[in-house]
Amino acid sequence: MTIDVAKVRNDTPGCARVAHLNNAGCALPPRPVMDAVTGHLELEAMTGGYEAATENAQAVERFYDAVAGLIGARRDEIAYVENATRAWDMAFYGIAFAPGERVLTTTNEYASNAIAYMQRGVRVDVVPDDADGTIDLDALEAELRKGGVRLVSLNHVPTSNGLINPAADVGRLCREAGALFLLDACQSVGQLPVDVDEIGCDLLSATGRKYLRGPRGTGFLYARADVLPQLEPPFLDNASAIRHAPDRYEIQPDAKRFETWERFVAGQIGLGVAADYANALGMNAIASRIDILATLLRAELAAKPGVTIHDQGVLRSGIVTFTVDGRTPAEIVETARARGINLNVSKPRQHGYDPDALDAVVRASVHYYNTEDELERLLALI
Ligand SMILES: *Cc1c(COP(=O)(O)O)cnc(C)c1O
Repeated sequence: MTIDVAKVRNDTPGCARVAHLNNAGCALPPRPVMDAVTGHLELEAMTGGYEAATENAQAVERFYDAVAGLIGARRDEIAYVENATRAWDMAFYGIAFAPGERVLTTTNEYASNAIAYMQRGVRVDVVPDDADGTIDLDALEAELRKGGVRLVSLNHVPTSNGLINPAADVGRLCREAGALFLLDACQSVGQLPVDVDEIGCDLLSATGRKYLRGPRGTGFLYARADVLPQLEPPFLDNASAIRHAPDRYEIQPDAKRFETWERFVAGQIGLGVAADYANALGMNAIASRIDILATLLRAELAAKPGVTIHDQGVLRSGIVTFTVDGRTPAEIVETARARGINLNVSKPRQHGYDPDALDAVVRASVHYYNTEDELERLLALI
């Protein structure tokens, strides 16, 4: 199966207005997602919010099946959460660390996750990179063998580098060592085939707005059924827990324990539609089209005098990071914006633990609906 580019562009009204190369920031939603969100908002306005939720109950419930289908999970292992950071937090703050237990992470950990480690005061050991810039699996294995590792936290596809970390290899080592494996799949879900059993992660967080093309302000958490009982969410309400009596409550047995009663219902419906849309196109077809475009863009940028590509890794994502001699990343992004091309400034040093990371790079992140012509327009400007 390949992507019918004309069809997906036709499904995407924004394609007629901008060359959108900021898909790692927030992708353009397709028409079915927009219609689902605005349709539900309209229904809320016309019939009342509770009544609209009842009327659209099937679409609300469809979210769980659609997302579970996308990542090879069960529907009761999926929680709808307002964004990926909160989804990640609900898992991380739900782990009861015993004194001395450690977290292992990578050099390019997302800043919000790194802040959470500091707030909780857990000991974090950063596994070094190998020569390619991805996690050094031998070093990970050695750290796991030392013992005391409760959690391994992996950034599948970092926000400010084009590398892809070998998640399934990490999963295998975590299994052998009996460590929990939390995968930050924010940039990979919707971009690459992600199967929780193949990867072997216990927990996975993702956002709606990036490669999944869902609404902003949506995300989800996957929690494997057999680790759920050991996670006590940091916050509970009368949906994540049941109040049996004034002095007794019970936490929901399934992933609902990570949810809140009040939520952006239109967003939940829209995110379900986005997951179904990705599933219908096929994640292999999506990934291969993204790879073709990103590989082309990297090669053509690299051939330009004064351009440096900063992406590492053997396998690379749709995120292309670069700098241009004599021009700041902000200038390039601004110039491009004025010509209808959306890029982003990414700040590698704000994330992770690499003191030599660059302050700022240009990030061009492609999606399957981008065209070779759009890449040419960017290249002409550089
Ligand atoms: C964007 C991003 C996040 C945060 O996602 P939000 O939905 O903004 O909370 C976390 N991790 C990575 C790798 C990201 O790229």
